[in-house]
Order: sequence, then C-alpha cells, then structure tokens
Amino acid sequence: MLHNDKLEQWDRDNFFHPSTHLAEFARGNLPNRVIKGGSGCHIEDRDGNRMLDAFAGLYCVNVGYGRPEIAEAIAEQARELAYYHSYVGHGTEASITLAKMVLDRAPDHMSKVYFGLSGSDANETNIKLIWYYNNILGRPQKKKIISRWRGYHGSGLMTGSLTGLELFHKNFDLPLTQVLHTEAPYYFRRDNLDQTESEFVAYCVAELEAMITREGADTIAAFVGEPLLGTGGIVPPPAGYWPAIQAVLDQHDILLVADEVVTGFGRLGSMFGSDHYGMRPDLITIAKGLTSAYAPLSGSIVSEKMWAVLEQGTDENGPIGHGWTYSAHPIGAAAGVANLELIDKLGLIENARNVGAYLNAEMHAALADHSHVGDVRGEGMICAVEFVADKKNRTFYNASEKIGPKIAAKLLEQNKVIARAMPQGDILGFAPPFCLTRDDVDQIVSATRQAIKGILG
Ligand code: PLP
Repeated sequence: MLHNDKLEQWDRDNFFHPSTHLAEFARGNLPNRVIKGGSGCHIEDRDGNRMLDAFAGLYCVNVGYGRPEIAEAIAEQARELAYYHSYVGHGTEASITLAKMVLDRAPDHMSKVYFGLSGSDANETNIKLIWYYNNILGRPQKKKIISRWRGYHGSGLMTGSLTGLELFHKNFDLPLTQVLHTEAPYYFRRDNLDQTESEFVAYCVAELEAMITREGADTIAAFVGEPLLGTGGIVPPPAGYWPAIQAVLDQHDILLVADEVVTGFGRLGSMFGSDHYGMRPDLITIAKGLTSAYAPLSGSIVSEKMWAVLEQGTDENGPIGHGWTYSAHPIGAAAGVANLELIDKLGLIENARNVGAYLNAEMHAALADHSHVGDVRGEGMICAVEFVADKKNRTFYNASEKIGPKIAAKLLEQNKVIARAMPQGDILGFAPPFCLTRDDVDQIVSATRQAIKGILG
C-alpha cells in the first residue's frame, strides 16, 4: 500500500480517470478520492472518512465489501493456478464449476455461458454471436440491432452505440450505422402527459413496429434491452411492457438480448430480471453481480436455440473465431463461485427483496410530496428519485443547474452517504449492497431528505 503525500499529485499527473471531466480534474477543481478499505455497506477513504455506499460501487458490490470468503477463494486460486487459458477445450475447476452454477440459476431454456471480463465486452460478444448466427442461417442481410434511447450497454464501439445516452456518442462518431434506437419505456418522461400507463406501452410497441416496418424485418437481427433501465435513469418498465415487446420480436423472428449486467443475480429481488418481467431472451449479459466485482468477470449466456446454430457454424467453418486471453480467468471464476455460494448461504436475494421494498417504501413516503420531487421509483434493491423544476407541469431543470450532482455532493459532504447522480436528467440513484439493513435505510432516507432540503428547500 502506498502511504505518501505525493499521491494526489501523482493522481492528477498520471491517471486517466474514466467518466471524469479531465480538464477540471487536472486543474485540481474536482476532488481526488482515494478509497482505502471497505466492510459491509461502508467504504473508507485514506483520510479516515467512513461512508455508507448506497450505490455499491457501480451497482456491483452486491454482497458488500470485505468478504473474507471471496478474498480467500481468490488467494487460493492465485496460489494454485493464477492463469491458464480456456481456448480449445481448456478450463479450470473454477471456470467449469461457475458455468454450471450460472446455468443452474439462469432461465431453463439457456444452454451455455461464454465468460468475458466486463459488461461491455460481453455485449460485444453478443452482437458478434448474433451476426454469426444469421450468417450461418443464410440471411446475411438480417444484421441491424435495435436498442432503446437511455439504454446503457457499455462504452465500446458497438456497445457505446447500443447505449442510448448522448454523452457516450457525442464526438466519438457513434452510434455505428447498424444500430437503431427506439422509445425508452420511461413513463414519467412520456411526451404525452394524458397517456395512461397502458396507452404508453401501446405507444412504445407501435413505435417499435413502425421501425421494423420502415427498416424491413428481414434486416433486423436483435433487440437489446435492460429488464429495468439502469444508468439511463433507473426506471422499472411499465406493466405489460416486456410481454408486449416480446410478442412483436417473436412475430418478426428478432432475437432478444436481456442485458442483465445490473439485474442479474438478485438486484430486483429475483435471480434474473428476465424471469421477473416475463422476458424470454436468446442471450443474457451478466457481469457485476457475478463476482460482486471482487474480480472482473462477465458472461454471455446463450439459449439452446442459438447454441444449436453456433454448433452448426463450427461444423461448417471450424472453431469459432472469438475469444479473449482472459476469457474465464481462473481468479475471476474462483471469485464468482465464492460469490454465488455466499449469496445463497446468507439469503442475500431475499434480503434484497425485503429491505429493498422497505427502502422504496420509505423513500416514497419521505419524498414523494416534496414540491421538486417528480417521481420516486424502484424495484428490489434499486431506487431513484427524480427532480423537477415544476411539478404540476412536469418541467425539468436545465442541465447546467446540475441539481442532481449538487444533491449527491451534499449527501456525501453532510451525511457521508453515497448515491449516484445519474448522467442524463436530475436523478439520484440508489443501489446498495444486498446486505443493507433497515437501520441503514433509515439513515439513507433521512440523509437524502436533508440533502434535498439543503439544495432545493
Ligand atoms: N450493461 C449494463 C446494463 C450496465 O449497467 C453496464 C455498466 O454499468 C454495462 C453493460 C457495461 O459494463 P462494464 O462497465 O463492465 O463494461
């Protein structure tokens, strides 16, 4: 561990931080934060500040910080075999065991799991598999991918294109031409305020159908969506949305990718969001909750239907031309096995469901009446509060006012509670570790109320 007074200078001089205002950071106008340790739902910085992390890192440390069971599994694997590849039929006890554990938990019609390192690379894998699938089936023109505005699927070339947030496109020459964006299932932000929820679902479906007609179903390969919109605003889908979308996709032979990087392994209080909302995906993306971020590991879970075509492809063409050096890395896999065992042993999904319901109910009770709180929403252990300039007419603040970031900063400064100002809109997000207690909830809710009062009155 480094203990020296040059750390801040080294940080500003050398470290390219992701998702950061680079110039402000280099100039010293943004704080540098050096995190040193963590235990349960709390982290500690090197100045000794203890903070309640109500966003579990980047909604990923689902079992909480400082779990010795996972640390020991990682250390043991590193001692025994830190690395071997998984090409041409190689594996380790950890990677094979984890594949079995993932499939045991996934929806019944899923067949195999390919392991990557990040949610972004898993989604890149998915799109390659979809294109390969349609080439093997002899329909090379069926390649376009539909995602949603405000969807988040990573920040690579293809995945940054799938992501439907302006910040991730602007000046990066994205999205790529193969990607189309359709309506986000974001009822609170609907254009037509007179629409009921079911009318809004019908509108989203009609928009999708119009896009398919316009482009031609024979050109569209897949639809990609998070069961619950995450980074785009933490928005549970309106009732009936997924079954209605699924019916359209089935009708046009369009594959469905459920991006469960956030929702997989319990965030909604169910093992997978696909089951939770009645989706029948052909591919499921997993990452964060697979290891609770104790080591980088992601996965693409492939359905039986797609798997049969992939096998056919290798019979026709030889080995699949896809793989990373670190696919199924043994240390990541060992962390995954220990993590999933711990989730079961401690009943953490049940806790996410119960304490998450309490979090959502308390947040709603405390804030829904505030004159600048437009919406309080969530599901399981995830929750969002959205701010409005005028509640009656649902007008939003100008982004330059930075209301969301100011409230998040106040919350941290005043109460040492970490929430996330979501990147588009004034939305405060909460996605705590699953081991959260009711006392923690009380603290988060009262701190949030105080922070809002401090900024908005
Ligand atoms: N998909 C979803 C739904 C995500 O929320 C994220 C990250 O937050 C990703 C994909 C990308 O994952 P990563 O940051 O590990 O590349």
